[in-house]
Amino acid sequence: MITADDFTFLRRAIDIAATAITTGDDPYGSLLAGPRGEILIEAHNTVRRDGDPGTAARTTMYTSCQPCEMCAGAIARSGLGRVVYALSTEQWAQLNPGFAWPTVPSDGPALFDEARVPIDRYHRPQTPPGPGGGLG
Ligand SMILES: [Zn+2]
Repeated sequence: MITADDFTFLRRAIDIAATAITTGDDPYGSLLAGPRGEILIEAHNTVRRDGDPGTAARTTMYTSCQPCEMCAGAIARSGLGRVVYALSTEQWAQLNPGFAWPTVPSDGPALFDEARVPIDRYHRPQTPPGPGGGLG
C-alpha cells in the first residue's frame, strides 16, 4: 500500500529528477527516508557528468564469488567489460546451507503522469513549432 507520505516522497524524487536535467544529468532522482519520515539523503544520477565508464569497458573484474544480482546490475551499469569469478552462486549456496537473500517490500508503480514528466522532457525535448505552426 502506498501512503500519503509515500506520495510526498515520490513527488520529491520526481522533483530531484527534474532538477537533474538542468545540470545536464540523466533524469533520475532518489531519496532515502528515515523511520520518522526525515529525508536522510537525496541525489540524482550523475553518470554522464562524472564520465564514469571511459576505460571501464576494457577492464576485467576478478572476484572470489559470482556477483549477486545487485552487484551484477551495478557492474553492468558501470560498463565493466568482463567478470571472472571463482565460486558460482550455486557452489556458494552449497557452502552456506539455509541462507536466503533478504527481500524488501516494494510498492509501485505510482504517479505515472507525474513521474513521466522529467523522463519525457529529457528524451523528447519540446521543439518550438516551425513556420506554419505546430501540430493541428
Ligand atoms: Zn552483491
